[in-house]
Amino acid sequence: MTDKNTSRRTFLQMTGVGLAASPWLAACATAQSTSIPRRAQGMPWPNWGELPETPPGPPKAGSVGIAVVGLGGYGIGKSLPAVAEAEGTHVAAVVSGNPEKAAKVAAAYGLPDDAIYSYDTFARIAEDDRIEAVYIVLPTGLHAEWTEFAFAAGKHVICEKPMALTPAECERMIAASKRANKKLMIAYRCHFEPYNLKATELMKAGAIGAIQTIETTNCYTVGTATPADDWRLVKALTGGGALEDYGLYGLQATMYLTGETPSKVIGQTEWQTEDPRFTEIPATTRAEIHFPSGAVANLTTSYNMPGSNTVIATGTDGKLIMDPATYYDGNAMKLVKGDAETVLTPGASSVQFSRMVQHFADAIRKDVEIKTPGEMGLRDSKIIQAIYKSAQTGEAVTL
Ligand code: NAD
Repeated sequence: MTDKNTSRRTFLQMTGVGLAASPWLAACATAQSTSIPRRAQGMPWPNWGELPETPPGPPKAGSVGIAVVGLGGYGIGKSLPAVAEAEGTHVAAVVSGNPEKAAKVAAAYGLPDDAIYSYDTFARIAEDDRIEAVYIVLPTGLHAEWTEFAFAAGKHVICEKPMALTPAECERMIAASKRANKKLMIAYRCHFEPYNLKATELMKAGAIGAIQTIETTNCYTVGTATPADDWRLVKALTGGGALEDYGLYGLQATMYLTGETPSKVIGQTEWQTEDPRFTEIPATTRAEIHFPSGAVANLTTSYNMPGSNTVIATGTDGKLIMDPATYYDGNAMKLVKGDAETVLTPGASSVQFSRMVQHFADAIRKDVEIKTPGEMGLRDSKIIQAIYKSAQTGEAVTL
């Protein structure tokens, strides 16, 4: 739905015009021709994600019917199972540009043929009373417009993280939610994950004293993909790169652990534009994040480093080590005080997905306040843009 010129405009909005010649502008100039386009389109079966062996039973009375938009790895592997598993929701429809894939997924969830929508027929969900809400699991560059489409159809929206490419897009989504008088939630699963909840509770209770530093890493190697075959490497679909996709978990952790929002950031990006994987986005982003209390976090996120997913908070009285910190399952955590180490096992991490979706249902049915609203996504988008601005200008950015 977005042409080449619009994508270029979006890029300029994101990065700020008038910047000196830099890898950012060079990437913009070379982007597009061989990249996946910025419009919703059918894609092949993803490289992960399993279907249920038997369709879920009938929904409970009062259950919220959700249409899942985008049948990629996460949509099939996590979003659909979570919607089916949560007490108060059920899969009411699927939306995909690949009819064979949609039919296979619909059959696995026991959906009739008329509960399959394509991107072209999506607007018709407005007349489908089986659908009360929409779960957007599309590439990031499509979140804003599809969220707006869903609100225009009169549905509530839960949208995957990162919320959108820019603060302006996030604001559009929030405004659309208000206009439609429907709920908007960002699918920040870690706010429902036992280890991260316990860590937050411990930090609040002063378990390591006053937090001095937090180090976060969210890295992996993207393998041989290029912008022609992976939207995560396409600027117009992903934004700045690993920071939005993966480093966002570390960024969020620094905020829920300190209970603060940053006052200043210093960013640094590492470009490897000669590498066919990184012609449009930086391979690595680092940030120094300052908080009003004086705590300072150091964030590293990369698509070109060995896998790591850690949070280490050091306080005046001890250390909290989370490794892995924000996985789908199997997170691990210990408190270190002097020579004493306490391993904590607050519960199965895997409950986070269905708990998050249940919270969305509670917001719709019981008007419970959303823990991860659009405003949180907007906050994070502003911080991310400040990190990139600092990387481009070489100056610290005050928030
Ligand atoms: P994916 O590449 O596996 O799937 C994306 C799907 O979107 C495709 O299969 C296709 O059905 C659809 N699509 C429509 N237009 C497309 C286009 N132009 N290019 C590519 N796909 C297009 O991606 P994914 O890993 O499922 O990610 C989807 C969303 O879920 C993203 O917003 C991502 O950030 C989010 N996500 C969240 C988590 C988490 O832990 N919360 C983890 C992974 C992904």
